[in-house]
Amino acid sequence: MPELSKYTVAIVGGGPAGLMAAEVLIAQGVQVDLYDAMPSVGRKFLLAGKGGMNLTHTEAKPGFIARYGARAAQIEAMLQDFDPDGLRNWVHGLGIQTFVGSSGRVFPTDMKAAPLLRAWLKRLRDAGVRFHMRHRWLGWDEAGKLRFSTTQDELRIQPDAVVLALGGGSWARLGSDGKWLPVLQQQGIQSAPLQAANCGFEVEWSAHFRERHAGQPVKPVVAGYRDNQGQLQQRQGEFVISESGVEGSLVYALSSALREQINADGSATLTLDLAPGKSAERVLEEVAHPRGSRSMASHLQSKVGIAGVKAGLLHEYLSKEDYTHPDKLAAAIKALPLRLLAARPIDEAISSAGGVMFEALDEHLMARRMPGVFCAGEMLDWEAPTGGYLLTACFASGRTAGRGVLNWLQAQA
Ligand SMILES: Cc1cc2nc3c(=O)[nH]c(=O)nc-3n(C[C@H](O)[C@H](O)[C@H](O)COP(=O)(O)OP(=O)(O)OC[C@H]3O[C@@H](n4cnc5c(N)ncnc54)[C@H](O)[C@@H]3O)c2cc1C
Repeated sequence: MPELSKYTVAIVGGGPAGLMAAEVLIAQGVQVDLYDAMPSVGRKFLLAGKGGMNLTHTEAKPGFIARYGARAAQIEAMLQDFDPDGLRNWVHGLGIQTFVGSSGRVFPTDMKAAPLLRAWLKRLRDAGVRFHMRHRWLGWDEAGKLRFSTTQDELRIQPDAVVLALGGGSWARLGSDGKWLPVLQQQGIQSAPLQAANCGFEVEWSAHFRERHAGQPVKPVVAGYRDNQGQLQQRQGEFVISESGVEGSLVYALSSALREQINADGSATLTLDLAPGKSAERVLEEVAHPRGSRSMASHLQSKVGIAGVKAGLLHEYLSKEDYTHPDKLAAAIKALPLRLLAARPIDEAISSAGGVMFEALDEHLMARRMPGVFCAGEMLDWEAPTGGYLLTACFASGRTAGRGVLNWLQAQA
């Protein structure tokens, strides 16, 4: 490998993707300057650690890759170099042990992100990465220099290559605000609008239902939607009634398809089976069973196990007459249609879809229109469900971009 220490590479964005690109580059002796708009790096990564840092997943490769939907091929290419096992080994190399949860998800033993980030930053600093905080990248000037607003004067620099790892568009207060998108579009780098992914949805609840049930989990429940072919796609799990609609793991898992239906049709229907594990016939039998002087509410509770928020949902959607009509009530229990009006704002979402399109990049993630400019992480146009798939692809793409820079610098040399 030719001497690379004469080259300087700017990494913009200190999330998992940017830090990984920095690691690949510093290991080969390149001078690495990492810039971030925030006072410290890795803020979203740290937040991800609050609810239990889910690093990756042990699902077998075909299923794992399929989680990236339309972008499975592009992500698979990146994972060749850094797959879930490689990621776990890398974490172990930082002195952090991992374990596999019952769902196949992989976590650090203490579930936290902070010790991992601390160890990683120390290793990067010791290796020579220079960190420049409170440097907000603004774009390029007429001479092609990178422009940064800082706490003092505007800074302009011309590194030999740049990796943009600016994150998606959710949780803007942690740094990734998506403001880079029009800047790149102006340079002719095709980028799709950012949209909420792994997000909640709006439902027009009555004031009564909202007051009584907001914050309550609905579980167990099967939720589903009809795909383009009219097939019912269903999953079992749980979700939460929010002030404005629905949120939580089961809704997030279906959110990509639901969002696209809303984009196409103006609304989407989420169909709920409130009595999973009981057939429609069995539910009808139980509902129609003579109940004597018992109220319908206590009849439903004892016969079908429906009470609380589930009963509230039935009241919300059924008229008084239908509620006492066994056929209609049983049908609603097995297939209650919730009309979703819109995705919740992107800022609340776990992640975002959209971003720099792979068509605008070569296989090393270098912009075809701007040689020497590489992109990585959530700012690329892919999406995936929660379960560690997000971080895995962010890390892997940072590595791909870092290696791409090395190839490119070698070609220059
Ligand atoms: C609540 C929550 C929980 C999550 N939990 C998990 C989980 O358990 N597992 C999982 O796989 N994923 C999880 N994620 C998603 C995961 O954290 C992100 O996908 C990941 O952090 C994205 O990495 P990134 O490096 O692409 O971008 P980011 O981590 O967003 O980093 C981008 C960086 O770029 C900087 N930046 C942006 N614009 C500029 C600019 N103009 N100038 C300079 N700097 C700029 C930002 O300050 C930021 O530091 C979670 C997300 C959230 C919100």
